[in-house]
Amino acid sequence: MLRGLPGTAMLALSVALLLATPAVAKKPPPAPTIEEQAATLTGRALTGDHGWDLLAELCDTVGHRLSGSAGMERAVAWGMRNFELWGLEPRAEEIMVPVWVRGPASLTQHTPIERSLAVLALGGTVATPPAGIRAPAVVVHSFDELDQVDVDGKIVVYDVPFTTYGETVQYRGRGASEASHRGAVAALVRSVTPTSLSTPHTGMMWYADDVPAQIPTAAITVEDAIALGRTQDAGHPLELTLQLQAETRPDAPSANVVAEVRGRELPDEIVVVGCHLDSWDVGQGAQDDGAGCVMAMEALRLIAGLDVQPRRTVRAVLFTNEENGLRGGKGYAEAHASERHFAAIEADIGAGPNFGFRMDVQRGDEAASAAASQRVYDALSPHLPLLASVSGATLEPGGSGADVGPLVREHGALGFGLALDTTGYWPIHHTEADTLDKIDPANLRDDIATMAVWAYVLAEVADPLATP
Ligand SMILES: [Zn+2]
Repeated sequence: MLRGLPGTAMLALSVALLLATPAVAKKPPPAPTIEEQAATLTGRALTGDHGWDLLAELCDTVGHRLSGSAGMERAVAWGMRNFELWGLEPRAEEIMVPVWVRGPASLTQHTPIERSLAVLALGGTVATPPAGIRAPAVVVHSFDELDQVDVDGKIVVYDVPFTTYGETVQYRGRGASEASHRGAVAALVRSVTPTSLSTPHTGMMWYADDVPAQIPTAAITVEDAIALGRTQDAGHPLELTLQLQAETRPDAPSANVVAEVRGRELPDEIVVVGCHLDSWDVGQGAQDDGAGCVMAMEALRLIAGLDVQPRRTVRAVLFTNEENGLRGGKGYAEAHASERHFAAIEADIGAGPNFGFRMDVQRGDEAASAAASQRVYDALSPHLPLLASVSGATLEPGGSGADVGPLVREHGALGFGLALDTTGYWPIHHTEADTLDKIDPANLRDDIATMAVWAYVLAEVADPLATP
């Protein structure tokens, strides 16, 4: 290390080191408390625009990034490059992903007036014949209604208002299969959102194994779904032409980007801070889930910058292929099954104001999970005031995240999902409007602070479920 220093400099250095050595060894300063470290992390997270600049770089120089696309390859390189810049020695862990490619699409209404409607193919759909499918259309408002009307040879239009995402998304996921079982030739789905500004929302759909025919399917806007229903109710026969190109190609290599700060006492126990790096092939994937990735990356960067490292290893994982396959989350859990994952946090619901975390603790049956959940709550809730960027942070039972789900369900990790106000999230989710300008830099800073502090707390605390 000192090679290359001239002899005189070496001598001077030796003398200086000798003089600097105290006669009596002093006790090392006490390690900072969780409170002190949390205050340092919060202070740094709330200062400057490092997270925002990172997200702008992702949105504007990488762009949207469906897995298997050139955009996703750029995103992996972007994640690797930033972790390397911060001295964190990242790994790109290869995962094979499905590849679905969108082509042009159009939708025309012929009766009672001729007009074109905004349309966005759902991920996984087959194409129409090149000339499109022209057929009568029938609007329904539930799966039950499918059995009360004749949809044979017709285009089914699902006009189903948003209740919760989990409930309403069923129509996007299996609407085409249910329609095909009853002889329909195509399915159009009202976008899964509580409010709309004439923007169609894409998302994943699946064909059931026993489906008689894989029929093309696409999202239409809330406004057009309502208008088509109203037109039908007024007694006008509906006729539509749907034309869309899409292609499923062979699986291709992608990667999870993984970087970590080794634990000082329990390096083999891991706290994952996760997000998904892929996005839909529209907009910029700013809220879904670019913001979550910036939170995970910034949390790790801030923790790496502390003078004293946390007891456990903190590992950021930017998962691939959440949107249309979940191969990143499943593949990570399989590849790292021999490691002990103490906890896993995910941020995947935008960048609104946060109010703490949803807590997902799974231990055998429901009663055992509830008992374990209570013990985790009792042990961790006293640390909630450390989330100083949030007033009244809470820890409520709920889901953690799609990507960390396998770690929580199969490997016993304590799961946490960043809980956010989603008012601004669902209206732009999976649309061309998911762009950086919708994100408030102050909220993003608060969310980063919350993620960093909670990851640090989890890396530091005693195991709430350890047998006494
Ligand atoms: Zn997402």
